[in-house]
Amino acid sequence: MNDQRNNRRQAGDVGPTPRRQAGDGGPATHGKARYSGSAPHGQAHYRTTSREHAKRATTSKKVSERGSRQYYTPNATYGKPGQVGRIDYSRENPRYKGVKRRRRQNRAPVVIASALVAALVVGGTVMWNTRPVDIKLNGRDARARIGATLVDAQRDNDLSVRPGNYVSVSGKVLREGEGTPLSARVDGSDLSAADVEKYRIKGGETIEISDGKDRVEEYTATETRTQPKLRMDGDGTALAYVSQWGREGVTERRTGKETGETADVVTQETQDCIVYLRNVSPDDDRKVVALTFDDGPSTYTQRYLDILSSAGAKATFFCLGQMIDKYPDLAKAIVDQGSQIASHTYAHQRLSKLDAETLQSEHGESFQRIRDAAGVSTTVFRPPYGEYNESCWLRSAGLASVSVLWTQDSRDWARPGADEIVTNSLVNIKPGSIVLMHDGGGDRDQDLEALPKIIKALKDQGFEFVTIDELMQSDSTIPKDIATGNATIPDDAVWPTEIGD
Ligand SMILES: [Zn+2]
Repeated sequence: MNDQRNNRRQAGDVGPTPRRQAGDGGPATHGKARYSGSAPHGQAHYRTTSREHAKRATTSKKVSERGSRQYYTPNATYGKPGQVGRIDYSRENPRYKGVKRRRRQNRAPVVIASALVAALVVGGTVMWNTRPVDIKLNGRDARARIGATLVDAQRDNDLSVRPGNYVSVSGKVLREGEGTPLSARVDGSDLSAADVEKYRIKGGETIEISDGKDRVEEYTATETRTQPKLRMDGDGTALAYVSQWGREGVTERRTGKETGETADVVTQETQDCIVYLRNVSPDDDRKVVALTFDDGPSTYTQRYLDILSSAGAKATFFCLGQMIDKYPDLAKAIVDQGSQIASHTYAHQRLSKLDAETLQSEHGESFQRIRDAAGVSTTVFRPPYGEYNESCWLRSAGLASVSVLWTQDSRDWARPGADEIVTNSLVNIKPGSIVLMHDGGGDRDQDLEALPKIIKALKDQGFEFVTIDELMQSDSTIPKDIATGNATIPDDAVWPTEIGD
């Protein structure tokens, strides 16, 4: 699939044309060519204005013609003399003689004055509509007529830019100078080719004008989509999280309507999905640690929560969906105490041995139980037996965003005695450490004895107890959406279907 990308021919991309050498005409020639090319734009604009002027003049003419016909034609009659129902206004009709004369004397100056006022208004309007205004052009103060096009403004200010070319799908120049006349950025936004044409100077704007872009011949296209791959990066052991979501690539095979040439153009680069392996390293070496308890909720959960509360501490409980089914209230109690609840899958199976469907259900069912019982949306989990390899990530469909292991194993499951649990938990502890203990899975009396000692020892060393989400947030290299603990695959992303290099 990747060779789609390698076959790409850059030349088909729209962009400034490679320029000819100076001896080949130079900027002046191009400039001139451009000016003559641009002249119709300018003229078209003024033509519109004079057309309006002409239209107004014609209207005035019609008025005065009507006037002269009505008032000045000596023999004009409206109805023939003697006709029933018609009045003879002609001069021969003595009855209206006076009236008519009076009208002629009164209306003439009015008509002339009106025409004059109209002419002044039209003239004034034209001048007002084309008045010069200040603009900022390519970093300099400049003047342009209001309503002028960008090509006008460029020409009037002697800015030399080269138009793009008209090119084939493979980028071969078919006709020089027949691309867009110029490119423009107005008040910080790039204008499309269509907007460059439509734009009219308002006054006060900041304009950056540069060389025009190539215009590609019309073409038909067929699309090939390239799937992202899954890649692992980083060298930590405590966390594995999605540091980049995968996105499909799109390659268009374009066939030029004019030339029949074909060219493969990547219109969207493929973006691989990256799972990053990292040990948390809090910013400024902030002394934060996370205590974690697996396999609950259980009959011990409340006692752990009480110890944490009395010490003003919190922890993270990686709960099994099937245990939440049994103790939904404890799932809620964890959150109410200020601790975090996250998933330990539904039924504690070896995920690396499961097919995709079962693996996804282990995630989905557990996340759903947490949502239902504790009202928390999370995509953070700890894999049973710490087993979650690249192939598990591939089969997960992106349901989980963070896999959490540990840096200190209390080995409480072996029941070595409270003191050894304390020692194991504290060995080599440092900012960003994650301590593994257990909530369910058997007799936890030694943990209940060890926990207050662990908390006291860490407090004495100046450590603060945080949840796994807070621990991630303490390390600014971890993407913010991941550190919320509830990241889900974005709408425009796709989960990879194969493992990359
Ligand atoms: Zn477990």
